[in-house]
Amino acid sequence: MSKAPTKVTQGLLHCERPIFAASVPGRSGASLPTLDVPEPAADAWPAALRRASTPHLPEVSEPQVVRHYTRLSQWNFSIDTGMYPLGSCTMKHNPRVADVAVGMGEFARLHPYQPESQLQGALQLLWELEQMLAAVGGFSRVSLQPAAGAHGELAGLMMIRAYHTDRGQTRRRVLIPDSAHGTNPASCTLNGFEAVQLETSADGTLSPDTVRAALDDEVAAIMITNPNTLGIFEKHVAEIAEMVRGAGGLIYMDGANLNAIMGRFRPGDVGVDAMHYNLHKTFGTPHGGGGPGAGPVGVSERLVPFLPVPTVNRSKEGFTLDYGRPKSVGRLRSFFGNFGVLLRAYVYMRELGAPGLARVTDLAVLNANYVRARIRDFVHVPHPDMCMHEVVANDQNLRSTGATTMDVAKRLIDHGFHPPTVYFPLVVHGAMMIEPTETETPDELDAFIEALRSVVEEAHKQPEQLKSAPHVTGIGRLDEARAARKPHLRYQPAGEDES
Ligand SMILES: *Cc1c(COP(=O)(O)O)cnc(C)c1O
Repeated sequence: MSKAPTKVTQGLLHCERPIFAASVPGRSGASLPTLDVPEPAADAWPAALRRASTPHLPEVSEPQVVRHYTRLSQWNFSIDTGMYPLGSCTMKHNPRVADVAVGMGEFARLHPYQPESQLQGALQLLWELEQMLAAVGGFSRVSLQPAAGAHGELAGLMMIRAYHTDRGQTRRRVLIPDSAHGTNPASCTLNGFEAVQLETSADGTLSPDTVRAALDDEVAAIMITNPNTLGIFEKHVAEIAEMVRGAGGLIYMDGANLNAIMGRFRPGDVGVDAMHYNLHKTFGTPHGGGGPGAGPVGVSERLVPFLPVPTVNRSKEGFTLDYGRPKSVGRLRSFFGNFGVLLRAYVYMRELGAPGLARVTDLAVLNANYVRARIRDFVHVPHPDMCMHEVVANDQNLRSTGATTMDVAKRLIDHGFHPPTVYFPLVVHGAMMIEPTETETPDELDAFIEALRSVVEEAHKQPEQLKSAPHVTGIGRLDEARAARKPHLRYQPAGEDES
C-alpha cells in the first residue's frame, strides 16, 4: 500500500493513494478564527491527561478531502451503479421514498430514551409493521428486535429451546438440509443444539422419507429454507411440518427467500412455528458490506409466550413497550430494533400494498426463470425445471477449458456486471447463483445474459483472458486469502513497509 501505485489511472478512474500520502505539513482544509482567549500553559493539564504524542492526521485541503472520498466511492460497485445479481442476497433497487421517510426529522431526531408518551407515532408504526408482517407470513405475532437474519434465527431457536424446557424436555438435535445457509447450523450451535445434516434429493428438494429416517424424540426442530438455496420450492413442506410436529418437534423456516413467495404462500399456514424475515433483502434497504439490517421473527401461537422483550402493545391508552413477559427469552439488543430499517420496510409495504407485494414475487420469479431459460444454451443448469427467484448454474461445461467459476465471475466485472454468488450453495460443484430480482428490466437482463454468454465463449477460445481478469478495474485480482488473513489496515509512509 505504501508503494506508488503502478497504474495511476484507468481512464477517469483514479488510482487513489491513502489520504495520508497527500499530507503536507501546515496545509489545512479549515479556517478557524484566531484565538480570543489566552493560550493555556503547557502544564495546564495534569500530566496523566496529557497526550504522549500528537495524533497522526493528514494535513490536506478541502478539495483534496472531497476528491479523495468521491474517488474512493467510485471504486465501489452498488445497486445504484448496475445490476447486482448476487444470489441469496436479494440486491434490488430500493425505492427512494423509503429514504425520504427515514430522513424526516420526525423520525430521524427521535431518541429511544424519550418517554413513551412522546414516541406514540413511532410505536404505532412498529405495531402496524408487526401486523403487516404477521399477515404476510401467517403468524400470530412478530418480534421486531433481531438486527439481521442470523439474529432472527438465533431468536427463533432460543424460543424453541425455551418452549421445550418449559415442557420439561431437553431435546438437543435440529435437522438441517445440506443446502442450508451457513448461519443455520451456526445458530444451532450458539443455542447449544446439535445440527444434524439432511441430504437433499436428486430433484433439489428435501424428501419426507429423509426427514422420517432422522426423526426421534431428541429432535427439537427442523430448519427449512423455502424456497431453498437452490432456488427450488420445497413442495413437501406441509407434509414434513406435520411429521415433525407429530414427533414433538417444532418447525423453523429460514425466510431469507420470502421475496419468492410473499403474497402467494404463507409459511404459517403449513405449520411453520418460527420464521425470520430479512427486511433488508425482501423489503428493501441498501445493504451489503455488513449492514444495516433487520431480521424480525414471526411465531405461531405456541411460541408467543417466549417472544423477546420488549414487544409493542396497543391498549385504550395508546401504544406501550411491554417488558413484563414472564416466559420471554429476554432482551436481544438495545432499545427496540433497527428503527431506520423497520421504517423503510414499513414504507415499502405501504407503498406497494398487498397486491403489489404479490406482484413483486411474480416478477422476481419471472425474471429468474427468464434468465434460467436463456443461459441454459451455454452454461449447465443442474436443476433445469422451473425455479423460484434465483437460478443456480455450475461449471460443468467449463471444465474442459481450464477456466473456473471464479474466472467467469472476475471476467464479468470487465463487462460492467457484479458477479453472481459463486461456490454457494455448497451442494453444487462450482456453483454460480444468479438472482436478478424483480427490479431489473428485460433489456438489463438481456445485457447480463449476453455478457455471461460472451465470457463463456471466450473461456473456450481464450481462457487466459479469464485467468487474468478483471482487466479494466483500478485493482486487478487480489490474493483473497492473503487479503483476508493479513489485511493491511495501517498506512505506512514510503520506505517503512513492514511486509
Ligand atoms: C442472507 C441469508 C441468511 C442470513 O441473513 P443475514 O441478514 O445476512 O444475517 C440466512 N439464510 C439465508 C438463506 C440467507 O440468504
